[in-house]
Amino acid sequence: MDEFELIRRYFDRKRVVAGVEIGIGDDGAVLVPDPLKHQVQVIDTLVEGVHFPSDTDPADIAYRAVAVNLSDIAAMGAIPRWMTLALTLNNASEPWIAAFAAGLFEAADNHELALVGGDTTGGPTMTVTVTISGEVEKGAALLRSGAKPGDAIFVTGTVGDAAAGLALLQRHEVDEFLVQRFLRPTPRVETGRRLIGKASAAIDISDGLLGDLKKLLLASGVGGEIDISKLPISDALREKFDLAQQRRYALTGGDDYELCFTADPGAVKNIPGITQIGTVSGSAGLVCRLHDDIVDVDDSGYRHFR
Ligand code: ADP
Ligand code: MG
Repeated sequence: MDEFELIRRYFDRKRVVAGVEIGIGDDGAVLVPDPLKHQVQVIDTLVEGVHFPSDTDPADIAYRAVAVNLSDIAAMGAIPRWMTLALTLNNASEPWIAAFAAGLFEAADNHELALVGGDTTGGPTMTVTVTISGEVEKGAALLRSGAKPGDAIFVTGTVGDAAAGLALLQRHEVDEFLVQRFLRPTPRVETGRRLIGKASAAIDISDGLLGDLKKLLLASGVGGEIDISKLPISDALREKFDLAQQRRYALTGGDDYELCFTADPGAVKNIPGITQIGTVSGSAGLVCRLHDDIVDVDDSGYRHFR
């Protein structure tokens, strides 16, 4: 069977989906956007050996490729609608493609997200590129640039799990929860939707909390302060690693795909699964505190200032 036949078999589900006039099978997809909304477009590529180990389960690769894009959609406060998939395969077998498709639709079907087209090629390195377009109320998209001095800084879920999970995976150690947090991140689409009109700025955490929060603060032209003792750390991370390593993963580990956002605490008090970790300030830069002490955080963790 050639690749086109395989794609027809595993990717074209022949479903009637709202907003899709023409899906897979023609030269292009024909879509019907909501005229009352703005479109949000995101894209992310995963490369074998760079973004995931070569022996990763194909269902997990696909799930993750969709989830990381959904996380960008979530950070914009948008509703995901349509997805395309560009796949470069290196001798993939039919069972591999079947498992990949299953993981892809598992992630997509959590969100009424339709696969409407793609491209398939052969090449030396497996590469998975997903694009998602979403919709958001006009003028309401969550941006990185709106944080104001006095706003509180929040994160969703727990931080540091994915970096710990990847480290365990590479050492062939098992911790179901932490490894799954890396392989199958939970994009915070619902929380993103609830933050519309409430958060002043938002970003998703892909490169590590500190680095991504700094991007948000810079884009907003403000600074901030966080208290390391307030970081939400999962029980699994606490059990597996000492306190210094927990904090190192939480602050600088990547791949969490949680949201970091700023808001008036009163405006978000009814939103579940969020933790306040700090405050936006008028002075430039990000200060880390441990209770009352200022600490110096670098890639090797944190240490006390003299
Ligand atoms: P073209 O040559 O016109 O670009 P293709 O023969 O590459 O078209 O693709 C045929 C159809 O299959 C198109 O609708 C395309 O969007 C879809 N398609 C190809 N590869 C994929 C894929 N990996 N996932 C989803 N749809 C795909
Ligand atoms: Mg064509």
